[in-house]
Amino acid sequence: MSNMLDTDRATALDAARVAFRAELLDAGLLIGSTVPGIYGRSGAFEAIISGLDAVLGEMARPLAATVLRFPPVYPRVDFERTDYIASFPDLTGIVSSFDRGDREHRELLSARATGEAWDGWLDPTDVVLTNAICHPLYATLEGRLPVGGSVFDLSGYGFRREPSSDPMRLQSFRMREFVFVGAPDDAQEYRDSWLDIAIETLASLGLPVSAVPANDPFFGRAGKMLISNQLRENLKVEITVPLYGDLHEGTAIASANCQRDHLTAPFDIRTSEGALAHGACVAFGMERTALALLRTHGMDVAGWPGEVRALLGL
Ligand code: ATP
Ligand code: ZN
Repeated sequence: MSNMLDTDRATALDAARVAFRAELLDAGLLIGSTVPGIYGRSGAFEAIISGLDAVLGEMARPLAATVLRFPPVYPRVDFERTDYIASFPDLTGIVSSFDRGDREHRELLSARATGEAWDGWLDPTDVVLTNAICHPLYATLEGRLPVGGSVFDLSGYGFRREPSSDPMRLQSFRMREFVFVGAPDDAQEYRDSWLDIAIETLASLGLPVSAVPANDPFFGRAGKMLISNQLRENLKVEITVPLYGDLHEGTAIASANCQRDHLTAPFDIRTSEGALAHGACVAFGMERTALALLRTHGMDVAGWPGEVRALLGL
């Protein structure tokens, strides 16, 4: 299809994504809503997610990671210590609620009754939606780490405001992350070795994965520089799977990142020797991986290769 015009290719890719979404809805695996990127999921879909969770837990067993779970919202003061709002204002979500008096509540209700906007009576609260599930962790690590650093097993929902008709791009989705915080050299080594293990694990599920140097969608003009730094210094590698033949090179189902001191400096997290610590993580997109499995092996789990079903306990 290399002779296709770029615009034709983009249109064909959009159509392929919309068709995949329709297949998922028809099969009842996803339950649509009026908002793009917000879905319910069926029992069959959740069984795949549970199987994946077990496979990832098994993969990470040698890490002996500390298991921690955080809710899908976290303190705004911690969010404000990072530069997320500078880099990704367009992906951010902040929780608003009503914190005024009876008079204002009556005003809100009468606006609502006449079909006017009523959300102007709400105010931002002290909680924000978690964008990456490792963010709440860093705020808890202020001070010195134990000798050799620490490893954490995290799982939970992330929110990113990126509405799309692509079923792989959700606004609210689950991640499983294995995070190392410690000496800079150890963080780099952790990232590199766990990238290989992650690739092996996903390949064992029959996924045609590749590792691709990547960048985050930093916002605006200043963001362009951050994008090129991230690529030049090879801080982020994505594990991708092709879903739409040669219409698209592949969608990221996981990533392995060197955060350097990006999240440790704001919280003054130090090694046992007192140097500024570095962070590194391998993050798996749970819905994306389940969807990649469905796309690769077919919509009917009963027809998947026996060894893949066995690994996932399906
Ligand atoms: P960092 O820790 O550097 O902030 P991260 O740990 O949040 O990065 P990402 O690469 O941003 O890592 O996201 C991890 C995984 O989450 C991705 O590889 C992808 O599988 C999944 N993911 C990201 N955005 C979406 C989305 N909009 N919808 C569904 N899954 C997503
Ligand atoms: Zn992370």
